[in-house]
Amino acid sequence: MPDFTLATDADGIATLTWDVAGKSMNVMSAEGFALLDALIGRALSDPAVKGIILTSGKKDFSGGMDLNIIAGMKDGGAQGIFDGVMRIHGILRRIERAGMDPRTLTGGKPIVAALPGTALGIGLELPLACHRIIAADNPKARIGLPEITVGIFPGAGGTTRLVRKLGALAAAPFLLEGRLSDPRAAKAAGLIDEVVAPEALLSRARDWVLTATDADLVKPWDAKGYRMPGGTPYHPSGAMTFVGANAMVLGKTMGVYPAARALLSAVYEGALVPFDTALRIEARWFTNVLLNPSSGAMIRSLFINRQALEKGALRPAQPDQAVRRLGVIGAGMMGAGIAHVAASAGITVVLIDTTQTAAERGRAHSEDLLDTGIRRGKVTPDRKAEVLGRITATTDHAALSDCDLVIEAVFEDPKVKAEVTARVEAAVGPDCILATNTSNLPVSGLAQASQRPDRFIGIHFFSPVDRMMLVEIIRGKATGDRAVAKALAFVRQIGKTPILVNDARFFYANRCIIPYINEGIRMVAEGVRPALIENAARLAGMPLGPLQLVDETSIDLGVKIARATKAAMGDAYADGAADEVLFAMADQGRLGKKATAGFYAYDAAGKREGLWPGLATRYPVTDPQPDLTEVQHRLLFAQVLEAVRALQDGVLADIREGDVGAILGWGFAHWSGGPFSWLDIIGAARAVEICDALTARHGPRFAAPALLRDLAAKGDTFYGRFAPAVRAA
Ligand code: NAD
Repeated sequence: MPDFTLATDADGIATLTWDVAGKSMNVMSAEGFALLDALIGRALSDPAVKGIILTSGKKDFSGGMDLNIIAGMKDGGAQGIFDGVMRIHGILRRIERAGMDPRTLTGGKPIVAALPGTALGIGLELPLACHRIIAADNPKARIGLPEITVGIFPGAGGTTRLVRKLGALAAAPFLLEGRLSDPRAAKAAGLIDEVVAPEALLSRARDWVLTATDADLVKPWDAKGYRMPGGTPYHPSGAMTFVGANAMVLGKTMGVYPAARALLSAVYEGALVPFDTALRIEARWFTNVLLNPSSGAMIRSLFINRQALEKGALRPAQPDQAVRRLGVIGAGMMGAGIAHVAASAGITVVLIDTTQTAAERGRAHSEDLLDTGIRRGKVTPDRKAEVLGRITATTDHAALSDCDLVIEAVFEDPKVKAEVTARVEAAVGPDCILATNTSNLPVSGLAQASQRPDRFIGIHFFSPVDRMMLVEIIRGKATGDRAVAKALAFVRQIGKTPILVNDARFFYANRCIIPYINEGIRMVAEGVRPALIENAARLAGMPLGPLQLVDETSIDLGVKIARATKAAMGDAYADGAADEVLFAMADQGRLGKKATAGFYAYDAAGKREGLWPGLATRYPVTDPQPDLTEVQHRLLFAQVLEAVRALQDGVLADIREGDVGAILGWGFAHWSGGPFSWLDIIGAARAVEICDALTARHGPRFAAPALLRDLAAKGDTFYGRFAPAVRAA
């Protein structure tokens, strides 16, 4: 079955239907483009055809480009990419000109895009080249250009057309943030032209084709006297926009995202020249971005591998384990969040705490989140009633009897957890899987309290549960495959991304993030200027500096973890220098954001005001200060070496999880594609050199792990050696 089919009716309406065989969503391939071009050409030259409707045979229009096209173009180097992109521009430009006389701009045939549902990336760039975009009123549809979120930008004319259609300022959220809209919002923003009842989509498209005039076919930018909405860069109001946009992008991205900078350049330079030249400029900047290793690493981690993990690449072969009824024990911060996301995904939840008041408080958390959704227009009152109706708050363990998964999120105390395990196991059926949400306690140890440790597993959520996309699944020594399959099925049901790790201290994410925080605090003790520490982290692409991060997660939690780790590790514990600072802060009641006092100062309303000046009194800054790169290397290597050790020790079984988990779990510099991608970008040999230099100056915590040395010696990369053959989901 070809990707596109063309059928012309008695009225001369040609319907071009996109329906890629064997896929639930249309994606554009190189063959698809060639066929689209040929069929459009045929329809334009067929005298029987009056106009063309471009639509989809599926419930959605398109999810975007098949990323293999990009891989194919990359094989041809810079020229290959540029030529490939220019060919796409040519196809879309032929659609846009639709056979009209270039001098008189008459005689073309109307082409309308009729979108039944979601239209993303090329799925919107193609309609933007048509003469009208009509969408079905389908609130589930997502319309937009999300390219920037995976490290590229819309490079098939979407950037140039949207800026010329809306103006640079109005186009900014769609291009720079990848904002997606439902059809009504897309219409309100001017992204599309019309929204109609789903059943009227094709008839309305038809009517439009039959009544369209020559003038309806001429894009504003092809008409005489076109002026860009909001002004071009040298227009007074346009100048303001571009200066502001530049500052905003640099402020948000710290200059480490090549795609954001290239996009701005394409927009700025493109705005100064005629449309076809602007397309060439867009193609050049797009080529530039594709050649930057950051874009390949981001696409791999944030798109390909993230999707593979979500679709169940790690799933053991097991019959369907979808969760029907979930028990949650402990209705505190985490338990209440877990109950909310599960109920939102359609799962019936029994939420248990020691008192009815505490259990109901947990349910009220869900109510609060739903009310916020209503205020923002994202949740309807019916939806609220439906979600809350799925959560039963109780103290009665008998209500767990039909649950097929129970997650405990009670206090982080092995004794309390052991009691809960025994109590739950007495109440549930033999097939039920029991999971712990512990953040620090070894899962294999907690499993000792279970009568059936093969059905005991760790499901570690991050806070706040409703917003954090990563879930770590921890396989204890005795955990069986069915428990793993159940946990993965559950994470898929609630729409989050799982990584599956083996049991070890702090599992994966916390294992890497704690050394980052400690390295930052250690530098304070050494007299490194706190602002340098924080800015170095942000300029390396970390969302929060280590001092802000520990303020947000709370300093007393840091103290608790440090004490417990020290007790467990004995002499091997090496974070005393950081602890000294941390304990001193806690002793002064500077417990972080929640106490409106920490490494930062806060106003009475809790707003962060700046670094706490008292730090400088207690830890005077030294002269000279280390340079920026040195501080960044310390902060980044503290994390990535831990990730390498996790791989070396078998805690991570798959490097995809190491990269995706780092980005979603603790916001590790997205631009790098994750710790392993970053090490591959700089190269193992260079990484070992940096480790050796850091070790000489700061101690053995920076010693290059044997695995990294081995890669360096053999000239290998992590992805070269460990990239798994992606298993079909
Ligand atoms: P919390 O103190 O907010 O909530 C714990 C709840 O458990 C309380 O409501 C308490 O009344 C209830 N509880 C205690 N004993 C119980 C029992 N025997 N039966 C039923 N309910 C009982 O704690 P939290 O922050 O939600 O953390 C819960 C678990 O999640 C801990 O193991 C913690 O390590 C882990 N965790 C926390 C975070 C975080 O950021 N807070 C992140 C990941 C994991």
